[in-house]
Amino acid sequence: MIEPEIIERFSRQILVRDIGVKGLAKIRKTRVAIIGCGATGSAQAELLARLGIGFIRVIDRDFVDISNLPRTYLFKYEDAKKAIPKAIACAERIKEIDPTIKVEPVIAKVTPYNISNFIKDVDVIVDGTDNLLTRFIINDAAIKYNRPWIFVGVVSWYGNTMFIKPDKGPCFRCLTPTRLLEREEERRGACEVLGVVNTVVALTSSISVTLLLKYILGLKVDYNTLYIVDGKNLEVNKVKVNKNNKCIACVYRKLEFLEGKKYLEGNIARICGTNAVEIIPYSNITIDPKEFSKLFSEETIVALNPYAVKIKVNNEITLTIFRDGRAIVEGTIDERYAWRIYEEHVLNKLNKRGT
Ligand SMILES: [Zn+2]
Repeated sequence: MIEPEIIERFSRQILVRDIGVKGLAKIRKTRVAIIGCGATGSAQAELLARLGIGFIRVIDRDFVDISNLPRTYLFKYEDAKKAIPKAIACAERIKEIDPTIKVEPVIAKVTPYNISNFIKDVDVIVDGTDNLLTRFIINDAAIKYNRPWIFVGVVSWYGNTMFIKPDKGPCFRCLTPTRLLEREEERRGACEVLGVVNTVVALTSSISVTLLLKYILGLKVDYNTLYIVDGKNLEVNKVKVNKNNKCIACVYRKLEFLEGKKYLEGNIARICGTNAVEIIPYSNITIDPKEFSKLFSEETIVALNPYAVKIKVNNEITLTIFRDGRAIVEGTIDERYAWRIYEEHVLNKLNKRGT
């Protein structure tokens, strides 16, 4: 039984053939996890929320930055000013759109070790990431827990998306050779140089959410089709992808990424498309942003919220530290320099405070 207010809200959607009240009920029962809430993740989040998806979990490690605003959805200028984590800003906006949606923000980096917590209790996984390694981890987890997921990737004028149901069609490893990971550094560089057109984000995200909607409604979804969006020539091309009968992941079920065997990313990594480096400490560090901010002079605090504190280190560099000790150093892509800043402003301060 759907409440009258919900029926009224979705009255135009119910009119659509193949949706109806039955379809609406299916949509509202659906649980989705969106991994990464940048350009494509936020676009998909907004579409899914307005569609009426019943439960949305948003997992993202980063905070809203002013340079995100031209190509993201949901986020406001204020979110960037206050350095609000993307997962939190996204969840707040979804609640504003529709308070009946259950939305769960998670501020975390998705790794082989935590991904199962995020996907075990959902029906579909949505790719909102900007990196290949996370997609391989999602792919392994999707195979292990038998969950469909939607791959989405956008760069420059071009977008790719594919509905992946590993038990029925090809998986991401059938489609993408892992040797591309070795060129990840190069690829990251390309991303910074090439940028992203926001309409291509919208086009590609619309296709991905349409695929998801069709799946929820029980309409035919082609699990063998990669959609390639050419935003410049305004063409969408469909490419047939075959299952690799020798696929190590979906055929032989060797889940190397999930087992951590191919988890190549170090503790320090440049973030795609930004002038920033992310640092994940080896040891278990927990900070209280408010308490931690007291270790710095007031004029160096750029933003303070319950999730993180952002500090101005010098004229070029800012440092944002999250509750779990993870940090983002902005203003440099030099990983060693970023680490020195982290050592000086986080580890040394914590040590001094401890003695
Ligand atoms: Zn495969």
